[in-house]
Amino acid sequence: MHGHPGLVAVLQLDGGIADGGDLIGGQKSHSIDKYKIRHGSIVALKPGLCGERAGLNLQEAVYNQTLAMSDHTTRDTVILGSGCSGLTAAIYTARANLKPLVLEGHEPGGQLSITTLVENFPGWPEGIQGPELIENMKQQATRFGAELTMAHLVSVDLSKRPFELNLGKETIHTRTLIIASGASARWLGIPSEQALIGHGVSSCATCDGFFFSGKEIAVIGGGDSAMEEALFLTRFATKVTLINRSENFRASKIMLERAMAHPNIVFRTSTVVDEVLGVEEKDVKGLKLRNIKTNVVENLPLSGLFLGIGHEPNAKAFRHQIDLDDDGYIKTVNNVFCTLNGQIVPGVFASGDVQDRRYRQAITAAGTGCMAALEVEKFLEEHGR
Ligand code: NDP
Repeated sequence: MHGHPGLVAVLQLDGGIADGGDLIGGQKSHSIDKYKIRHGSIVALKPGLCGERAGLNLQEAVYNQTLAMSDHTTRDTVILGSGCSGLTAAIYTARANLKPLVLEGHEPGGQLSITTLVENFPGWPEGIQGPELIENMKQQATRFGAELTMAHLVSVDLSKRPFELNLGKETIHTRTLIIASGASARWLGIPSEQALIGHGVSSCATCDGFFFSGKEIAVIGGGDSAMEEALFLTRFATKVTLINRSENFRASKIMLERAMAHPNIVFRTSTVVDEVLGVEEKDVKGLKLRNIKTNVVENLPLSGLFLGIGHEPNAKAFRHQIDLDDDGYIKTVNNVFCTLNGQIVPGVFASGDVQDRRYRQAITAAGTGCMAALEVEKFLEEHGR
């Protein structure tokens, strides 16, 4: 999706979220069917509203009672993350006059902001530079009243109503929260790799494979991601060298066998990358490889390097406060509703890569960002602002 044989992945936002937070104490839910307590009284729920769709419970009733206690400094909504998903949520909630506060973390703009040409975002027939796309989204959001601020979430307390976000220097309160903090691709972390991100080093085969037609490239990793990337990249590259630091693979048998059977994929095991060559030329020229068993070092000439060593969802701050899966991704129901022990946590929504390990595209992140924003709107309509 990006221009020139260089380029980087797409989407995913910020991290910088520290571990934190209390458990939501004793929130075992009980259904109260089609009624809810609103500011102390029981009222009928309008049919078709999101709360009903998602299932009402006692947490929601408690929410309504405590919401009444919140003061005027409480935000209607705070969006965590300023990548494609967070900014889409910001555009929608801003247009709904909710004056969203967007917290940008240590990767403002998410992964699009470190991308070059984005060719698969609808509406840009010639493609658009990732940072420009993000800047456009920011302008679109602020035009309607969104506020963006650089801040790192130190801890969060979702057991309180309104929710309490500790940003270190200040604490803010909000009635609703959209977690769009993304998932960061794992990198090797060596300086030459970092220097060539966007110039032949990529973490997204779907995005950047196209630019390596007729070239030789390498994929790092031994899991399903690496196998999938290697197989996908054979559509473009003439040769794919798959480099795994271990002798054994984490990939499923079927994926591994498929990759091994491919005539254009060559395997190197027990091998690590000491250096990516081409920093001076600003273009990947090869890899300096080392066999960790024999310590033999050699240079492998090639044009591109793809990382397939997994992603880290930026959701650690929410551990024990909402349900995460085994790899730390936020579990959602009905697309964007967060849960705790399987029960909806009222007012908390997640969108984008932090809850999507499957698609991880800019457009899908934008899509769930929109859904989260619409649910916030409906939630505040139901519960009062
Ligand atoms: P995994 O954790 O399964 O594999 C990561 C791989 O990267 C391992 O081989 C690991 O090596 C290697 N690695 C990690 N860090 C480094 C490093 N710093 N340097 C070199 N190598 C490193 O992650 P995946 O993203 O592959 O898969 C995650 C989950 O998603 C899995 O459950 C997988 O099945 C699933 N998935 C499924 C797909 C499908 O079904 N089509 C496609 C993609 C993922 P080591 O083993 O030595 O630690």
